[in-house]
Amino acid sequence: MPLHAVRPKILGFISEQASAWLVGLVVVLVGGALTLVVAWAAADLNRQQVRQRFQLLVNERYSRLEERFEDQEQRLGSLRRFFVNSENVSHANFNGFAQPLLLRTRAYSWAPRVLREQRLGFEQQVSRELGEAFSIRELSDDGSLVSAAVRDEYVPVLYSQTQSVLGSPLGFDLLAQPLRRSTVERARRSGKIAVSLPMQLVGLEPSYTPGVLLVAAVSRPATTHMPVNEPYGYVMAVISMRQLVADGLPNAARDNLVMQIVDTSDTQQRVLYESNNPVADSSGQEVTRRLTLGDHVYALRLRPSQVFEQSNHSSVTSILIMGGLLSLLLSALLYVLVSQRQRAIKLVQQRTGELRVREHQLRTAHSQLRSVLNAATQVAIIATDLRGVINTFNAGAEQMLGYEADQVLGIMTLENLHQPSELTVRAAQLSQMQGKRITPAQAMLVEGTDSLHEAREWTLVRKDGSQLMVNMLVTALLDDHGLWIGHLAICLDVTEQKRVHEALAARDRLLRKLSAHVPGGIFQFTLEPNDNWRFIYASDGIRDIYEIEPGLLQQNAKLVFERIHPQDAERIRSSIRLSALQLSHWREEYRVELPRQGLRWIRGEATPEELPGGGTLWHGYVSDISDLKRVEEELRALSITDSLTGIHNRRYFQDRLKAEMSRVRRTSGALAVIMLDIDHFKRINDQHGHAVGDGVLQELCRRIGVRVRRSDVFCRLGGEEFMVLCPNTDGDQAYGLAIELWQSLRSSPMVGVGLVTASFGVASWRVDEGVDSLLLRADSAVYAAKQAGRDRVEAERLQV
Ligand code: GH3
Ligand code: MG
Ligand code: MG
Repeated sequence: MPLHAVRPKILGFISEQASAWLVGLVVVLVGGALTLVVAWAAADLNRQQVRQRFQLLVNERYSRLEERFEDQEQRLGSLRRFFVNSENVSHANFNGFAQPLLLRTRAYSWAPRVLREQRLGFEQQVSRELGEAFSIRELSDDGSLVSAAVRDEYVPVLYSQTQSVLGSPLGFDLLAQPLRRSTVERARRSGKIAVSLPMQLVGLEPSYTPGVLLVAAVSRPATTHMPVNEPYGYVMAVISMRQLVADGLPNAARDNLVMQIVDTSDTQQRVLYESNNPVADSSGQEVTRRLTLGDHVYALRLRPSQVFEQSNHSSVTSILIMGGLLSLLLSALLYVLVSQRQRAIKLVQQRTGELRVREHQLRTAHSQLRSVLNAATQVAIIATDLRGVINTFNAGAEQMLGYEADQVLGIMTLENLHQPSELTVRAAQLSQMQGKRITPAQAMLVEGTDSLHEAREWTLVRKDGSQLMVNMLVTALLDDHGLWIGHLAICLDVTEQKRVHEALAARDRLLRKLSAHVPGGIFQFTLEPNDNWRFIYASDGIRDIYEIEPGLLQQNAKLVFERIHPQDAERIRSSIRLSALQLSHWREEYRVELPRQGLRWIRGEATPEELPGGGTLWHGYVSDISDLKRVEEELRALSITDSLTGIHNRRYFQDRLKAEMSRVRRTSGALAVIMLDIDHFKRINDQHGHAVGDGVLQELCRRIGVRVRRSDVFCRLGGEEFMVLCPNTDGDQAYGLAIELWQSLRSSPMVGVGLVTASFGVASWRVDEGVDSLLLRADSAVYAAKQAGRDRVEAERLQV
């Protein structure tokens, strides 16, 4: 199943492909829109609630005021009934009844109806009752109370119960003043409570002055005698509108409503009551209700106050702010969530890819490892867990030990495969070495201090009980974290190897014994293509030949050339190379300079064969031939030495002359010979005997020998004839030398013989001249000297 098919969406609805920025933006927009809708709904709800609350307040206020208005009417009605039902009401009676009624009413008064003819009697009667002068009065133009003018009828205030400290102006005629008069008249006409137009009450705070006068006519109940129910007085209530309305209401600072009361019948529309708290700025709400008091209808106008507005503050702004903030927060959250999720998914994809590659690599490596394990049929690979129980047993191990893997895995331990006695011995050894107890089961796992990670030979026991010699390397198996998880044993069957090794050792011993009986040393030597000189084998005899240890020589063949004489070394090198090139038998005699034995002559012989890789291998021997050389040298010296005189003989002279001649031909130099013959030697023999003659010959050789130059070759040709070979010498120089020699001979006599002289002949070499010709000319010169009387030097140049 493809990965993307099961991939969940972020938070269940956001596609993973969506850009985190886009998600953030969409969330902000959707959040903003939702916030607006919620704010709008909240505002609407708020408006409704405010309206409802306002209506509730209005209703409550209205019913309260209506109650109060009705209450005022009822109280005045009860006062009227008190008068109606009482025969005679004294001042005290009035006070007693009216006093408790004074609630939210400025004053209650009683004003009897006094006709013009009754005025005097009334005034006198009241004066008596009061104990002071009483008269019916009215307000003059200047505002003071004066005795009322004569009229048909008076309604003077007789009793009054008031809250005012000033009291009520007794005797004041209500009919004297138009406003009161019209009210009284309406009360009389209607028989119901009449209410005055708004009036200014006196003796109060200015805000309490607007008020009304409630008047109710008091009549005797109608009787048959008096069907016309004329009132005999009036009860009145003075009401301050503020006191009536505002008493008991919350104070202005806390009142939710702004009230205004206007008398609808008042043409001037004067405001009877106005709350002094501010109206809400932007409410626009207003309710007007009708309140009835007596025969007047009042318009109660109610509006919400600022307090109401504040307490019903709309939460739209906070909703907008909160919504906006929430949207932003959510947007940021989703942005982070989406981008982190996308990053995480990317990382997961990357890691998954890597893991797949790793898994593939591991599979490949595992199968390769398995193949390697099984392909290694010549190697037993056995792995164990920490307890030593075998968990890997490859094909090589099966083949080597005869067990099937199934018979071993998880069943046998490495210890089971070992020979017990060997383990016990090794365990004892290790215990001693390490100073702590090592069990046989650990013996093959523990490394001795001497052999770190080194393979050891062990004897294993096959399934059939036979023994098997193996070379086993045990290493610790560690996991990826370096924790020890077991052991790995790799075993090589060394039975055959051991057999071969032993056979080789026997051959080695044989070779050593044989070579010990052979003079000199035998060797195997290779010259590899990269000009590497190497002794593969060198027997002990080599040690005496070069005074170098054979082991050292095997490591570094060049040490031999440090021993070989410098004059011979290059020749030996060349001859070895030539032998390799031509595959020709190598045979050389050369000198070595040894620290102990000094100069020795060595003879080497070896037969080359070509190596498959291109090098050359020699088998050969070297032997010391110094003794042989010495004998040879002596023999050679003898063959060229005159036995009587000890100087060189004719053979030597002839060899040297030939050599010098071929040299002088190449270099076109000079060459001369001096020949001498003793004069009358025969006589000496004859006179003194042959032995004396021999002595003369020896003495002559001594004298001449000390005179000739180092480069000259002095030889006895035979009998009493001698020759001096002078290389690089021309005729004149040779002549000079001959004169010297001649004089040295004749300068002093020989003991027992006397003066011995000789005749000298000098000949110098001519270009293209042969040996015989030169000698002939020298001989001719001697002959000439003899002829000329002997005892002289004759140069051949003289003959030319
Ligand atoms: P001349 O002046 O002409 O040379 O006279 P000569 O006597 O020297 O002449 P000749 O050559 O005939 O004689 C040489 C003699 O030297 C002959 C021989 O007996 C003698 N002689 C040769 N060899 C030896 C030798 O080895 N020892 C001795 N004692 N005499 C020798
Ligand atoms: Mg002679
Ligand atoms: Mg002679």
